[in-house]
Amino acid sequence: MASTAGKVIKCRAAVAWEAGKPLVVQEVEVAPPQAMEVRLKILYTSLCHTDVYFWEAKGQTPVFPRILGHEAAGIVESVGEGVTELAPGDHVLPVFTGECKECAHCKSEESNMCELLRINPDRKVMIGDGQARFSVNGQPIYHFLGTSTFSEYTVVHSGCVAKINPEAPLDKVCVLSCGFCTGFGATVNVAKPKKGSTVAIFGLGAVGLAAAEGARVAGASRIIGVDLNSNRFETAKKFGCTEFVNPLEHTKPVQEVLAEMTNGGVDRAVECTGNINAMIQALESVHDGWGVAVLVGVPHKDAEFKTHPIHFLNEKTLKGTFYGHYKPRTDLPVVVEQYLKGELELEKFITHSVRFSEINKAFELMLAGQGLRCIIHMDG
Ligand code: NAD
Ligand code: ZN
Repeated sequence: MASTAGKVIKCRAAVAWEAGKPLVVQEVEVAPPQAMEVRLKILYTSLCHTDVYFWEAKGQTPVFPRILGHEAAGIVESVGEGVTELAPGDHVLPVFTGECKECAHCKSEESNMCELLRINPDRKVMIGDGQARFSVNGQPIYHFLGTSTFSEYTVVHSGCVAKINPEAPLDKVCVLSCGFCTGFGATVNVAKPKKGSTVAIFGLGAVGLAAAEGARVAGASRIIGVDLNSNRFETAKKFGCTEFVNPLEHTKPVQEVLAEMTNGGVDRAVECTGNINAMIQALESVHDGWGVAVLVGVPHKDAEFKTHPIHFLNEKTLKGTFYGHYKPRTDLPVVVEQYLKGELELEKFITHSVRFSEINKAFELMLAGQGLRCIIHMDG
C-alpha cells in the first residue's frame, strides 16, 4: 500500500460551486476509501457533454458544490475493506455506470443496467454510507456519476472500475471510459446494422462519430451524418460518414429529407445529440418494416417523446442505451485489447489537450462546438 493509504489526501480538484460559473481549481481533502471502494489517482480526464449539462444545470437537477468528470484514466492508490479484484498500482478506467456482477442485470447477457451501480446522476454521495469523500474546510463537496474525475484523487465504488492492461497509454484509452464505448457500442451492440445497410447518425460530436465508426466497422455502405453544425462534416468523413444533412439548410423536416435520400428511410438511426427533436426525428427517419432507432443523448429532465403510434405499428423499433450496452468490468478490458491490437483508432477523437489548471478552456471549446475530445492533463 502507498504511504498515503488510510490517510486523508490533500490535492487539487476543479470544483463547480455554482451553475454555469467557471470551475475553481483548488485544494480539497479526499477521505480514504471505505468498504468496497477504491481511491484513484487520476492522470488524464476528458470532457463529455454530459458534464456540461450538469454544470449548466439548465435541463438537469442542480447539485453544487460538486466535482464533475466521468471520462478518465488513472491508477489505484489504495483500496477499502473487501476489495479483492483491485490493488494499488493497477491501471484502471472508472465508469459512470457499474457492474456488481451479482444482480439479475449483471447475470443477464441482455442488460448492463446493474441494480446497485447503474448510472444515477442525481446521487451525490457514496452508496455505502451516504457521505461525500471530498471536502473543503469541512464542507462536503458532492460526487458526480460516482466518478468525479476532475480531481487529482477520487474515490469510486470498486464495481465502477475496470482494470486494464498496464501497457495501454492512459492518455488515449481514457476516451473509452465514456465517449468512444458509448457511441461505438450503441451501433455495434444495439443498432446492429447489417452489411451494406444505411445508417443515419444524429449529432457528430465524439459520441456520434464513435457511433459512425461502429457503422463503418459493421460494413454499412451509407453513413449519413446529421448535425446543425456544418463544421462537423469535414471531420466526420474521417469516421466513415459518406453524406451529410444539416436540418437548418432544409425547409422540409429532416425525416422527409432522409426518406427521399434513401427510398423510404434509413435502416438504422443512432441519436447522439441530447435534443428531444432529434430523438423523435431519429425514430421517424427509420424505414418501416425493419428500421431501428437507438437513443444515446441524455435528455432534458422534463423532455417528453411525442410521436404517432403508427410508427410502431409500421414496425419501426425504438431503443436506448447507456454506455453502448457494454458491461464495464467485463467488456472494457477487452475493448482496450482491441485498441492495443490496432483495431480501434482512438487518436482521431482527441483534438485538443489542456493542463488541469486550464480545465475551463475545455468547457469553452465544447460550448463553441469545436473539436471532439479535449484531454485534460492532471499534472499540469
Ligand atoms: P457534443 O456536444 O460533442 O456533440 C453533440 C452534437 O450534436 C453537436 O455536434 C451538436 O451540433 C449536435 N446537435 C445538437 N442538437 C442537434 C439536433 N437537434 N440535430 C442534429 N444535431 C444536433 O456531445 P458528445 O460529448 O458527443 O455527447 C453527445 C450526447 O451523448 C450528449 O447528449 C451526451 O450527454 C450523451 N451521452 C450519453 C451517454 C450514454 O451512455 N447514453 C454517454 C455519454 C454521452
Ligand atoms: Zn460521458
